[in-house]
Amino acid sequence: MIIANWKSNGGLMMIQDWTSDFINSCSPKDFYVGIAPPVIYISDFSLLEWDLDTLKEKSNNKIWDINIGAQDIDHLSGSRTGTVSIRMFEEFGIDFAIIGHSERREFFNEDNDLIKQKIIALNNSNIKTKILCIGETKEENDKGITKDILKNQLEVVDAMELENFIIAYEPVWAIGSGLTPHPKDINEIHKYIKDVVQSNSANKLIPKVLYGGSVTDKNAESFFKEEFVDGALVGGASLDGKTFANIVNIYNSTK
Ligand code: PEP
Repeated sequence: MIIANWKSNGGLMMIQDWTSDFINSCSPKDFYVGIAPPVIYISDFSLLEWDLDTLKEKSNNKIWDINIGAQDIDHLSGSRTGTVSIRMFEEFGIDFAIIGHSERREFFNEDNDLIKQKIIALNNSNIKTKILCIGETKEENDKGITKDILKNQLEVVDAMELENFIIAYEPVWAIGSGLTPHPKDINEIHKYIKDVVQSNSANKLIPKVLYGGSVTDKNAESFFKEEFVDGALVGGASLDGKTFANIVNIYNSTK
């Protein structure tokens, strides 16, 4: 599973270039690939779907679908200036939603209580795939309390029935910094996350766990080789269609 998070980047011209670069570089694959563009551009991705249909014919009908998702949702609607409600995303038919990104936690003061409300709303929606981001800061990492921090962030799913529920492990200090943990350390943390969710969710789900934080087409293979790394959430490197396609291709050939 490979997900692009464009954050507040992009533009109409970029989408056109990105689409043709991605299509020209991406090999057929049969795993989940998703893009979370800024909300205002979501409808422009109908262009991408059209091109992918053409490609599907050219590639003997290998699966080419790209899923479109939300970078965040508002679990409520009504008098909430500036937000986009989960009902609107549902109506649009988006396939996945990211919640709990560290930028939402840091810049918009989102805490576990709010994130839990969002998860409950998502569980009651027809948005199929939910991606919960968790991760420790540099200071927490230095103090050696990474697992405690992650366990606390994972409390939002305690006793919940979870379906199509993915965790993205994104150390805050690795996001956009060019720094990453060692692949072996990522693997160990992913195993820990799977164990915690399995023990605490009502239906004992063993979630897929994606790694996020400065993933590029240069380092992706070293992460994907690890047993408990089920894919990546890619920020900066997803803004270039060719680079993102390279990451998808690397996952295709590594897993
Ligand atoms: C992110 O913010 O989700 C992310 C992974 O960013 P980057 O790849 O740019 O570090």
